[in-house]
Amino acid sequence: MTAITGDIERAAGVLRAGGLVALPTETVYGLGANAEDPAAVARIFQVKGRPPSHPLIVHIATADLLDDWVEEVPRAARLLAGHFWPGPLTLVLRRGRRVPLEATGGLETVAVRVPDHPVALALLSAFGGGVTAPSANRFGSVSPTTADHVRAELGDAVDFVLDGGSCQVGVESTIVDVTGGTPCILRPGGVTREDLEAVLGHPVAVPSASGVRVPGQHPSHYAPRARVVLVEPEKVLAEAEAAQEAGRQVGVFLPLHLAATAVKTHAVVAVPASLDAYARGLYGFLRGLDEQGCDLVVASLPVEEGLGLAIANRLRRAAGPRTSV
Ligand code: AMP
Ligand code: MG
Repeated sequence: MTAITGDIERAAGVLRAGGLVALPTETVYGLGANAEDPAAVARIFQVKGRPPSHPLIVHIATADLLDDWVEEVPRAARLLAGHFWPGPLTLVLRRGRRVPLEATGGLETVAVRVPDHPVALALLSAFGGGVTAPSANRFGSVSPTTADHVRAELGDAVDFVLDGGSCQVGVESTIVDVTGGTPCILRPGGVTREDLEAVLGHPVAVPSASGVRVPGQHPSHYAPRARVVLVEPEKVLAEAEAAQEAGRQVGVFLPLHLAATAVKTHAVVAVPASLDAYARGLYGFLRGLDEQGCDLVVASLPVEEGLGLAIANRLRRAAGPRTSV
């Protein structure tokens, strides 16, 4: 971690002046603005090329501040915040008056979280307000997990980049809607479904994971330049070899014990056996294959348990059709 006290003060000043700060969190790097400054929030959408209807997450310094940002805090939300904050869990609640509609994509709900990263927390307390921060990348592309990723992708479009080292979780937060009767997962992420269920004491639905996959329903997001193709684990090598023969530059995701069996001309990602390490490395692996000039990535999905649910979600989205946003 390289950010120092002077950097935090400077970053807080940039936020107060309506500027954009890239900040490290435990999930991915965020592109932050003062949540209460509609013009600053609008610049986030402009820099990312993100449609204004896509709501942002408001980051706050402590769970005690939650009531300032939302209309009401249901019992389940209080329980989850108490248990998982600071941490990779985002709660969707009814929007408080402080939150401008620009930050919520026009919705009457707002997504809030307390990140578990010393630099993010230091910035939030020095700044004193809420910071809206989506991932610090262009809309649809791979999220950044180092300050260098942010600089390479956004460059001068960001007023200040706080360097907090590599993100420890590596995939975005789990988003839980607590506005209805029963909490449900809108996006799987760094807090597992199993951990949520243990705290709530009942099953938690993941609506999008339960349906049958229909082509066109998973527009691409979290995607490298290379096209991503998902196949059964035992078919990865055959698919890669066929694509290579057809003239593609191929990258493969293979379990560690099979990585050595790939033909030398493929770029190989040795997938870690631990899901923690896989999630931490995922976006860096995808960026690395782009850097090696791959135009096709062949991978398979992990078992969708624990962090495997979030990893599989990101890989599916990365493999989604490229024509729609
Ligand atoms: P990102 O910041 O790029 O990780 O994306 C933020 C995610 O939070 C998006 O998937 C949004 O759809 C989701 N989100 C933010 N606010 C809300 C909300 N009020 N209701 C539902 N989802 C939300
Ligand atoms: Mg994002």
